[in-house]
Amino acid sequence: MAHAFISKRIVTPQNTRPGALIVEGEKILAICKPSEIPVDAIAHNCGDNALLPGLVDTHVHINQPGRTEWEGFRTATRAAAAGGYTTLVDMPLNCLPETTTVASLEEKRSSARGECFIDWAPWGGAVADNQQHILPLARAGVLGFKCFLIYPGCDGFTMIDQQQLEAALPSIAESGLPLLVHAELAGPIDTAMQALSKADWRSYATYLASRPDEAELDAIRLMIRLCRQYRFRLHIVHLSTSLALEELHVARAEGLPITVETCPHYLHFAAEEIADSATLFKCAPPIRSKENQEQLWGGLRDGIIDMIVTDHSPCPPAMKREDTGRFDLAWGGIASISLAASIIHTECFHRGFTLDDIARWMSSAPAALAGISHRAGALEVGRDGSFVIFDTDAEFTVTRDKLHYRHTVSPYMNETLHGAVKATYLRGEAVYREGSFASEPSGREVTL
Ligand SMILES: [Zn+2]
Repeated sequence: MAHAFISKRIVTPQNTRPGALIVEGEKILAICKPSEIPVDAIAHNCGDNALLPGLVDTHVHINQPGRTEWEGFRTATRAAAAGGYTTLVDMPLNCLPETTTVASLEEKRSSARGECFIDWAPWGGAVADNQQHILPLARAGVLGFKCFLIYPGCDGFTMIDQQQLEAALPSIAESGLPLLVHAELAGPIDTAMQALSKADWRSYATYLASRPDEAELDAIRLMIRLCRQYRFRLHIVHLSTSLALEELHVARAEGLPITVETCPHYLHFAAEEIADSATLFKCAPPIRSKENQEQLWGGLRDGIIDMIVTDHSPCPPAMKREDTGRFDLAWGGIASISLAASIIHTECFHRGFTLDDIARWMSSAPAALAGISHRAGALEVGRDGSFVIFDTDAEFTVTRDKLHYRHTVSPYMNETLHGAVKATYLRGEAVYREGSFASEPSGREVTL
């Protein structure tokens, strides 16, 4: 039985147009004029709400197995469904064991089974000593690899130095999968820290000074050089400094296979507005100046930044150390998966961007990075019937009941956002609608 979702604004790769999205079983059967709806289809009138492709978040810390007191597949995927996402790709760290061997990948898979409200897939880790596990992990189904050029903030998942990375890069290049890099180098941070030995760590300015732009810049320069040498797919995660945009632009113009992401918090918050002791805003790299934020929007406009993903990275509330207000002691990470579409829509609204831009940044580009464009990333015949019904006129205030992840802690609390997810459909079935969820998880692992 086919279902026809009728809307004045269906966001497709070609354009945004009125019509009907016809979904049969799990797949998109057609996008047609209302007059062409099959006579036996069940009609759903979406009114003035837009239809967007299901969002894809390639930067999520689900933390299961091993740290389900931080998050977990069930809570993360519920929150994601409420946020309009239909696919998550899970980061290989902060879980126990870390996803750095095939055996740990299998543990992750068994812990995810039956727990996911939307589809998911794993990234593998490239750490100090697992070079021989890269190709087996690729064959076992990870969509790519993540590495840290600096201490990741949590023991277990080790950072990788240049020599260890160069030992892994031939295998990564051979796999054809992307390498996602946390691009900060310790050198400029260590230098900055020496100057801050007597600083007040309740001051946001201290934290910002401790993670200078140069730490990102130096790391990105190193990765561009290695990309040129080893010709692997390089992806820069959570770009925060706009000072790297020009060099990334030049490297891409040279034909190097480089993609770049940034995150809602870098596009919505600015250092000047962060109060001292407001440790909920701590993340690494840090939220920088208002001027930097505008430059990041320029990077999106110019296509140097390809995508916006959340870096949803929750922790138990006590780890944010609001008791002390000290940025050096607080866990760095911001959870935003249930709000990201509304945050970005709010920001776009003022800057002249459109729903087509949001669909590109938050669905098609991350789907392409993950290699799952055959399933996700666009409203197009033959892809999964996974989509979002989005009310562009809705306005709401962020309250705890809107967050849905395990610990309802957020630096976005009490903000007014413009635009809201009304419903999320996963392969033809509603998994979220107006505050309610599907009774049973139906998400599956997505494979290449
Ligand atoms: Zn992350």
